[in-house]
This record gives sequence, C-alpha cells and structure tokens, in this order.
Amino acid sequence: MLNMIVSGASGRMGSRIIALSREMDDIKLTVALERKDHEESGKDIGQVIGIGAINIKITDSITDMSEKGDVLVDFSSPSATIECLKSLSDKPMPVVIGTTGFSKDEIEYIKLYAQNTPCVFAPNMSVGVNLLLKVLSDIAKVTGDDYDVEIIEAHHRLKKDAPSGTAMKMAQVLASALNRSLEDTAVYARHGLIGERTRKEIGIQTVRAGDIVGEHTVIFGGLGERIEITHKASSRDTFARGALKAAQWVHKQTPGLYDMQDVLGLK
Ligand code: NAD
Repeated sequence: MLNMIVSGASGRMGSRIIALSREMDDIKLTVALERKDHEESGKDIGQVIGIGAINIKITDSITDMSEKGDVLVDFSSPSATIECLKSLSDKPMPVVIGTTGFSKDEIEYIKLYAQNTPCVFAPNMSVGVNLLLKVLSDIAKVTGDDYDVEIIEAHHRLKKDAPSGTAMKMAQVLASALNRSLEDTAVYARHGLIGERTRKEIGIQTVRAGDIVGEHTVIFGGLGERIEITHKASSRDTFARGALKAAQWVHKQTPGLYDMQDVLGLK
C-alpha cells in the first residue's frame, strides 16, 4: 500500500486526486496538506471536497512528513512546493510535482532535490498532451524553418500563471527540435506596428476565459498549407489520473528528475 500526502488538498486538482485515489486499492491518502490560513483547516478533507468523511483532517503541518507518507503529490503553488521540499530535505521523499509557474531558481532547487530522490515534474499529466509533445517534435524536425510555429493556449479565469506550463513545455520541445534557443525566439505578445514576423520566432499566446479546463493548439504555418494540432481537456480527472499513475511509478525509481514521458514509457 502506497501512503500518499497531497499538498494543495482542497484545490481543484488536489480534490480530484484525493477523490479518484479512493477508487484504487494500492494507494491511500495519509495527509491532506493545505496553506496555513486555510478556512477549512482541521476539518475532514473528504467532507470538504464533497466525497464524505474519510477520517483525514486538513493540516498545514509539514513536520514529520516522511513518517506519514511514501510519496508526496503536489498541486499547490510554486512557493508552497519549494517550502515543502525544503522541509523534506533531511529525509527526502519521492515526489510528483504538478504545480506550474516556477522561477528559474525554483526549478534549480527542484533539480537539486531530485539528486537524492526520484521526482516526477510535469506541467501536464494527461496522456494526450504527452503523446502530443512527442508528435510535435517529429513534425518540427520535418517542417523546420519553412513553417511558422505558433502556440495558443486557453484556460479558466482563475489560473494564476501565464503562459501555461504546458504551453511552455511545448515551446521548449519545439525550440529544441528546431535547434533554437527559446529565450531568444519566444514572442509572448504582439501589439501595434510590429513589422513582419521574423522567421525563427515561436509565438506563445494566452487566452483566459470562464471555466476552460485547458486547451492548447500548435500551428505550423507554411505557404499554401498549415497544420494545426489541438488538445482539449474536458475534465481535470485526466490530469488527476496521470498524477496517481506517476505516484505509483515514482516511488519505484532511482533518484533523478523524471517527467510524464518517462512515466508513460514514451521516451
Ligand atoms: P487551486 O488554486 O485550485 O489549488 C491550489 C491549492 O493549493 C489551494 O487549495 C491552496 O489553498 C493550496 N495551497 C496554497 N498554499 C499552500 C501551501 N503552502 N501548502 C499547501 N497547500 C497550499 O489550483 P489548481 O487548479 O488545483 O492548480 C494547482 C497547480 O497545479 C497550479 O500550478 C496549476 O497550474 C497546476 N496544474 C497542473 C496540472 C498538471 O497536469 N501538471 C493540471 C492542472 C493544474
């Protein structure tokens, strides 16, 4: 039995991960972590997320976590993730990080943590998006500099980071397939008299509206034709199921930084 700690337990993702874990025989929630001032702190997480009491109270305590869990699944916020990893640094625990929007320094810290313990770090845990990442690289290697590459992503109005972690991952995969530096070629906004499109830029545009779960389109625009590839998530359960699969997988691995392509055997 795998004992699982979920950080961000009552959030949109955390709550679905906890709910779906109840359908699995080999994984059990042991700690439901939330932020310090959480209004439901001390209440039963099952009741708070609407699945009925499960005898686990929402807590903000990150002490002695290694005694309470075999794996940490984190869908919180970048600062909360780093705080949690720091508290685990004496007794590292395998982790699945789904949180997005990390700074460069924070990503360096995650890499450091992963030197001593297995860590799955993926901005998108759905099978579909991870398959897409593989396909995008194959297409870009053929279309090369002859086709303009643009990424458009859309999410719900409450999302805090932009562009999405998934769009940035797609951009990185495309830049690497095209032998470009993403830092030098990414264009995040266009406005006013901007002149002609430069050949090597990779456009990454963001839409925020209503309750969109997550949509990503990549356009390869050539002369006389274009390819458009779209992924649409219609439910957060696709990410939650991926996160649970990653939790089952990560605790059997040797230390290192992994992503969902590793978990799904797509490499
Ligand atoms: P959310 O705001 O609904 O949930 C985040 C939760 O984290 C909240 O309940 C918040 O109270 C909690 N939190 C804040 N500080 C905390 C702390 N110090 N300790 C513990 N918990 C804390 O957001 P969400 O939609 O569930 O998304 C969470 C993160 O996951 C975001 O970064 C989002 O972009 C990312 N995400 C990733 C995937 C993926 O597949 N990797 C899919 C969807 C969302």
